[in-house]
Amino acid sequence: MRLIDHFVVGGSGGSAARLGDVFNPSTGQVQAQVPLGDKALLDRAVATAQAAQVKWAATNPQRRARVLFKFKELIEQNMQSLAELLASEHGKVVDDAKGDIQRGLEVVEFCCAIPHMLKGEYTQGAGPGIDVYSLRAPLGVGAGITPFNFPAMIPMWMFAPAVAVGNTFILKPSERDPSVPNRLAELFLEAGAPEGVLQVVHGDKEMVDAILDHPGIAAVSFVGSSDIAHYVYSRGVAAGKRVQAMGGAKNHAIVMPDADMDQTVNEIMGAAYGSAGERCMALPVAVPVGDETADILREKLVAAIDKLKVGVSHDPEAQYGPVVTALHKQRVEDWIQTGVDEGAELVVDGRGFSLQGYEDGFFVGPSLFDHVHTEMRAYKEEIFGPVLQIVRAKTFEEAVELPSRHQYGNGVAIFTRNGHAAREFVQRVQVGMVGVNVPIPVPVAYHSFGGWKRSAFSDHNQYGMEGVRFWTKVKTVTQRWPDGGAGDSAFIIPTMG
Ligand code: NAD
Repeated sequence: MRLIDHFVVGGSGGSAARLGDVFNPSTGQVQAQVPLGDKALLDRAVATAQAAQVKWAATNPQRRARVLFKFKELIEQNMQSLAELLASEHGKVVDDAKGDIQRGLEVVEFCCAIPHMLKGEYTQGAGPGIDVYSLRAPLGVGAGITPFNFPAMIPMWMFAPAVAVGNTFILKPSERDPSVPNRLAELFLEAGAPEGVLQVVHGDKEMVDAILDHPGIAAVSFVGSSDIAHYVYSRGVAAGKRVQAMGGAKNHAIVMPDADMDQTVNEIMGAAYGSAGERCMALPVAVPVGDETADILREKLVAAIDKLKVGVSHDPEAQYGPVVTALHKQRVEDWIQTGVDEGAELVVDGRGFSLQGYEDGFFVGPSLFDHVHTEMRAYKEEIFGPVLQIVRAKTFEEAVELPSRHQYGNGVAIFTRNGHAAREFVQRVQVGMVGVNVPIPVPVAYHSFGGWKRSAFSDHNQYGMEGVRFWTKVKTVTQRWPDGGAGDSAFIIPTMG
């Protein structure tokens, strides 16, 4: 059996006490195993990262940026093989895997301008003979704990800004698709990064706890489900670390009666079923306003679902592939049953979907519910599968309230031709990322990513200037040079009065 090892300086040090299975979700077969690391391995990685950090931080920012430039070039050269590797462990189709890599790469591109972003502030003559300047210093060793659903993009959201500003970084990716994170670390080394600047440790809760408690790690960035995000946030902060922790989602698509219905249906189909619904910015809830809008939307969705092509991840014709594990397939199908039991109307049932030749693959067909109500558990919780729920709203007011009152507040979209309604919606909705006729409003790399409510436990968003701020601390210097005149001692606090 192929072993996907840790990527730490000096090697992993031999056999692991525990191993995790890595599946090929299209075939359902175990294709490799990954060691589930422990505190001893982390101790070694942290010691290496601490030693490397001093020199890396002292490297001028243009030189650090040059490593990122080269890294970008290497990823572009390796795009196809990275995407195939990613798809083979995650299950998303290869073109979608390229998108996963590209969105991370765009954060790397942004970070190539790090010398400019670290320039700091300066005030000449803040007092008599006194100048004040502030600079952004790295934190030391940072760590990232990432989910299975974007094994390229989310690690790059984290480590690109973290290392660009002069930290060293330890990545603990999802144990379900660990190969691409390793490959990224290899390419980063090939791009000229010194050893120890970026390391990858594999593992599960044991490794996560070791990271959260480790005194040598200054900051932790987490992305995953909300209960674990909250746990990571609380435990990491209690250990005195800076922590950002992004959680789950249940994003709504509001459909106004004046929306361009064909375009809206196309957008919702891609956002609800793309990547088998395993995106934190998927659109699993459609909220048509008025029964007439709901009936038209439902009819068009059913017709579009009929044409959807589900297939293996390397099928270029497939629009989405299998979900990540058999356990996850079971969970999604259980949620469909919960929806039925709670009284929602199951218009299209994706359970029992089987692909010829791949009968053991983890496929779930597209499902559609209508007449879903807010008190149903199937509405309140994240399903994270190819399941779209229609919640009918009578009025615009009701439509604004639904995502605003939901426990999650990651993304939301409104489809309308009415600028005034869209503007009102943008102002009032209690959600972190909003799309206007844009189904998946993941902000570009020079803005930043972050939800509200139980979708994020943090003061800082991911990437953009928010990322630079998260991975640095401010030092402010107040300086005066002796001018020969010895003044008196001052026993009152100095003021500018
Ligand atoms: P997950 O929470 O199961 O795992 C995330 C990470 O936490 C993994 O590295 C995993 O090893 C670790 N982990 C798992 N159980 C743990 C435990 N008990 N204690 C400590 N660590 C643990 O999430 P997932 O299934 O890999 O990813 C899907 C989830 O991530 C969904 O809820 C999705 O909405 C969310 N997500 C959120 C965003 C965002 O930016 N808000 C982006 C992508 C995914």
